[in-house]
Amino acid sequence: MTDSFDLEHIWHPYTSMLNPLPTFKVKRAYGATIELEDDRTLVDGMSSWWCAIHGYNHPELNQAVTDQLQNMAHIMFGGLTHEPAIELGKLLLKITPPSLDKIFYADSGSVAVEVALKMAVQYWAALNKPEKTNFITTRSGYHGDTWNAMSVCDPVTGMHQIFGTSLPNRIFVPAPQSRFDGEWNPQDIQQLKQQIEQHHHSIAALIIEPIVQGAGGMRFYHPEYLRQAKALCEQYNLLLIFDEIATGFGRTGKMFAWEHAQVEPDIMCIGKGLTGGYMTLSATLTTKQVAESISRGEAGVFMHGPTFMANPLACAVALRSTQLLVEQDWQANIQRIEQILTEQLKDLAQLDHVADVRVLGAIGVVELTSNVDMKTLQQQFVERGIWVRPFGKLVYLMPPYVITDDELHYLLAQMSEVVKNMQGVNANVLA
Ligand code: PMP
Repeated sequence: MTDSFDLEHIWHPYTSMLNPLPTFKVKRAYGATIELEDDRTLVDGMSSWWCAIHGYNHPELNQAVTDQLQNMAHIMFGGLTHEPAIELGKLLLKITPPSLDKIFYADSGSVAVEVALKMAVQYWAALNKPEKTNFITTRSGYHGDTWNAMSVCDPVTGMHQIFGTSLPNRIFVPAPQSRFDGEWNPQDIQQLKQQIEQHHHSIAALIIEPIVQGAGGMRFYHPEYLRQAKALCEQYNLLLIFDEIATGFGRTGKMFAWEHAQVEPDIMCIGKGLTGGYMTLSATLTTKQVAESISRGEAGVFMHGPTFMANPLACAVALRSTQLLVEQDWQANIQRIEQILTEQLKDLAQLDHVADVRVLGAIGVVELTSNVDMKTLQQQFVERGIWVRPFGKLVYLMPPYVITDDELHYLLAQMSEVVKNMQGVNANVLA
């Protein structure tokens, strides 16, 4: 099944070139279905890592791309602008926190994080506090694969441990322990408080994924953490950066996860579901105050401007995808998915090798007691006609919102069978 050229020459995410994991060749994808080259079909449980919220091959998104293609695929953003960037910006300002007012379009989630970190540093430099250059964050976070994004990922679960001392040294505090649906434990914020009290003179910002820590552990934590973190940031002059790259566009049951806590950040990164999974595009949004302060600084400008900034094809499809989402009763749809996930996953919690089962919005997580053998599990999922990609101790689902009840029941039934039949969860293979 694995293509020999692919196996020999093409690197896949987090894989070895000596002992690559098998890959399955996809012929096409539509709705919540992935069709393999050998005509087998799989029900998609991953939305291509949070992105394909409306499923694949969506006629209206296809149309948005082809319409835009008739005008231009790309045009430089320095000195020029275009309708898709402007219309998308108008819509984004309507659905993001009210205090955010300025939009920087970037290429990928990781770059959006780099941009956010740079904004924070430039902001304090402009306010005559050039010593505020460091960042504080929680353990179990994940913010991307580029250098500074890596530096704020969990040093162990963030998959960048190998880079060790070559990364800038950030300040880490323990991950929030109070569960989203549990009691708030005031102890949870103590370390953050202590570290901020001690180091605030050198810290530009706190960066955090609100409510859901994604690739660093798929953890859902208590909204009170964000409320208290915001108060600390205000008290000690730190900017607050929310990385909503994974949590955005309805995935957690709110349009963006900040709404669970009603805490507004100074800077927010979005990506992934922004284009409905059609193209790579991200954005870093900030307040008028931050943007204008940066612009009053010594440089007079914000020092970033990628070649493919605000790519028109990506902006056009992002605009249509976001319109599609807001035009429908998306909350009811996410609740539908949440109910089915909750109902069908709960029994797995009884298994000895299952440590925890949790669901929030259209995210379902089964945490095992030890790491899974990804290769074996992946093969079993495919044989059962579903696409699920586990990592570490986690088998998790975040299906496209268009998934039907029948497809979702099938996905869950098959996934549950594999999890039930798992024996000797052993090999230490990450995603
Ligand atoms: N932040 C978060 C919360 C993410 O989940 C990811 C991607 N897994 C990133 C940043 C990086 O995004 P990208 O892969 O598009 O660079």
